[in-house]
Amino acid sequence: MTDPTGTNTKFSVLCSLFTWMQRSKSSAKKRSKFRKFLDAFCDPGNYFCPIRLILPNLDRERGNYGLKESVLATCLIDALGMSRDSHDALRLFNWRKGGARSGSNAGNFSLVAAEVLQPRQGMASGGLTIQDVNDLLDRLASSENRAEKTSVLSTLINKTNAQEMKWIIMIILKDLKLGISEKSIFHEFHPDAEDLFNVTCDLKLVCERLRSRRQRHKRQDIEVGKAVRPQLAMRVADATAAWKKLNGKEVVAECKFDGDRIQIHKNGNEIHFFSRNFLDHSEYVHGMLDVIIQNVLVDRCILDGEMLVWDTSLNRFAEFGSNQEIAKAAKDGLDSDRQLCYVAFDILYVGDTSVIHQSLKERHELLQKVVKPLKGRLEILVPNVGLGLNILRPSGEPCWSLIAHNVDDVERFFKETIENRDEGIVLKDPGSKWEPSDRSGKWLKLKPDYIRAGSDLDVLIIGGYYGSGRHGGEVAQFLVGLAERPAPNTYPRRFISFCRVGTGLSDEELDAVATKLKPHFRKYEYPRNGPPTFYQVTNNSKERPDVWIDSPEKSIILSITSDIRTIRSEVFAAPYSLRFPRIDRVRYDKPWHECLDLQSFVELVHSSNGT
Ligand code: ATP
Repeated sequence: MTDPTGTNTKFSVLCSLFTWMQRSKSSAKKRSKFRKFLDAFCDPGNYFCPIRLILPNLDRERGNYGLKESVLATCLIDALGMSRDSHDALRLFNWRKGGARSGSNAGNFSLVAAEVLQPRQGMASGGLTIQDVNDLLDRLASSENRAEKTSVLSTLINKTNAQEMKWIIMIILKDLKLGISEKSIFHEFHPDAEDLFNVTCDLKLVCERLRSRRQRHKRQDIEVGKAVRPQLAMRVADATAAWKKLNGKEVVAECKFDGDRIQIHKNGNEIHFFSRNFLDHSEYVHGMLDVIIQNVLVDRCILDGEMLVWDTSLNRFAEFGSNQEIAKAAKDGLDSDRQLCYVAFDILYVGDTSVIHQSLKERHELLQKVVKPLKGRLEILVPNVGLGLNILRPSGEPCWSLIAHNVDDVERFFKETIENRDEGIVLKDPGSKWEPSDRSGKWLKLKPDYIRAGSDLDVLIIGGYYGSGRHGGEVAQFLVGLAERPAPNTYPRRFISFCRVGTGLSDEELDAVATKLKPHFRKYEYPRNGPPTFYQVTNNSKERPDVWIDSPEKSIILSITSDIRTIRSEVFAAPYSLRFPRIDRVRYDKPWHECLDLQSFVELVHSSNGT
């Protein structure tokens, strides 16, 4: 029976739609079935009620459930009154692995849960309406502890059958696996839905404003206080492909910072920090409020950038992963060497006007006018016009952004960025506008293509290079070698220089290796004090490390990985070297003499090249 007023539409009707869509292979049929559901069962005045269940990952009206699979498993087990070590409880806890019976569903939590629920719930629908389910989900999201959540889940279980409960679990986990894109759902709902969502990130507003497909909505611009879906980058294989894609014109090349993508919306003293998933990270207020109010010189604006952590004792960015921790320390008023630092790489709104339609070059100019940088707290990323590559700024920091005039500039900047242990680079057309949610190639990202070679490349550290910029004064990169294959049952006697590697380890791990080796460093003063005889090196000056390890027995093995392509080496003594090598692990557990030998490495290269 249809119910276009939508008030009493049963949740079971929505579940039938889900099941149908999941089984159907045709995208067109999925869309038309969805349209029929909207027309026959939904009240245009309240589209939000069903749509928020269809696109649960876009719904920001309800807070977080705080239920990932493992907590959800515990709550369901308690709600069902099962013992935590019963067979079915273990199936839920071990949903990834699956047992003998749930093998085929392993890895899909809701299917494993449906199997556990099936014998415990009746076949008949519990009769809940879509509105009832939303009300119960509201209660679930607002309940403060596990006991309350368990009680709401228990009510849901009592009022549904296993199929309905399976879909509710998928809604809670925010992934329905319907095999239809969010884009298609939006397009079927209303031709302007996607655009409006991209600039507001507000599903309720989209549902309320776009009640009739026949009535078009004037394209809306972005607003301060409403998250905008961020512009994203497309990956390219190499600098040449990037240059071609950007039409061989000058490009802005920026360091790809590895932090949290955050949009800062400033409206007087009201500041929002929207993440890429348009969650408002209010925890950043504690570390950042004052600096935004004082150093962002306009009353209203939107900045786009990356939230990172700055280490004041080391005078450089710390590794990613500690943003939340630092925000919490700032909230608790704890003293720390680490502080939040925002790197603004774009500006989207100034005063009363959206500026996304202006060129990147113009936006960079605005960024410089609007933001007064404060070292280690608030930085701006605009090209160092006039400066060359790898030139330190007056602050002593490396240059993080520049205008590249040809492929070689891009190639060199990429190489330097990787050597500086950064993630890669982002390339942008200086004439381009900022486009919400675009990933069509207006921004390009270039990152090394890491693989694990068939077996680990376990190499020996034979020398060290002092770092520059943020790593100044300490050994920050290593010269590593391969062993000359020893006679059977003997240890290697010589090591052949192979490549230079610095990325991959956390700062702490790198410090630990450098400190352990420090007593064995011997300064390399060419030509007076050449390499120890047990190292085979070339005369190439690019190879010369600042220090040698004075005996291989004292050294450490590193497992390294690299870009898929090896290169014929002109710099190092080994015939091949690695592109963008990265340290995977420090092998304190492996003695020095178990270093990979050159012959095995060459065989490995040949087998992976198919020669
Ligand atoms: P990845 O997994 O490679 O980090 P991603 O899925 O996070 O990629 P992409 O669209 O591929 O996102 O890359 C863009 C992301 O890179 C942005 O969301 C932002 O967080 C980050 N980023 C770091 N530095 C920059 C920069 N200078 N310009 C634009 N984005 C940057």
